[in-house]
Amino acid sequence: MNVILLGGPGAGKGTQAKKLVARLGVPQISTGDMLRAAVSGGTDWGRKAKEFMDAGKLVPDELVIAIIKERMTQPDATGGSIFDGFPRTVPQAEALGRLMADLGRSIDHVISIEVDEAELVGRLGGRRTCKSCGQMFHVVQAPPRKADVCDACGGALYQRDDDNEATIRSRLATYDKATRPLVEFYRQKGLLRRVLGVGSIDDIFERICAILS
Ligand SMILES: [Zn+2]
Repeated sequence: MNVILLGGPGAGKGTQAKKLVARLGVPQISTGDMLRAAVSGGTDWGRKAKEFMDAGKLVPDELVIAIIKERMTQPDATGGSIFDGFPRTVPQAEALGRLMADLGRSIDHVISIEVDEAELVGRLGGRRTCKSCGQMFHVVQAPPRKADVCDACGGALYQRDDDNEATIRSRLATYDKATRPLVEFYRQKGLLRRVLGVGSIDDIFERICAILS
């Protein structure tokens, strides 16, 4: 089964991807992880990708697709893959569609984990980080035993600049703007399934599994 997961910052996409990998027994294809692996593995594609990354440039789509193809044709991926973080744009989605067709496969479901903005601001805005050891907490979901003090080392907790409300709203707006055409692309193909991303991790996972079964 080939599944694409969509979801903005704080939607819990990575967590659900890992649970799906365990449930379905197929690998997660996360381009960030794969690019890093290709680069450190020193493959031909990895060396090419490294040139772009070292120059601070985006790795071109054709190269990303080549790396994905290599990953998809490894033995553990013959039963399918969970795509997490790719595609991000309509041209990437079109390229993935062509690759799937070349391999005689198809995308079964595109699952969009949807959480409203107020909830996301609450989730992301509640994060606190230890100044000394970097351990992360959440004022609601994972509070420290003593307010503003790190459980691990006793250091002071603070809110990182990218966790403040204005930055969060701007990150969410950027994601929404970039992803809306992609969501529409898959909606028109009849592949899009929207899942409410609130409740416990297991509740959300069961909603996803209900769609897949
Ligand atoms: Zn600490």
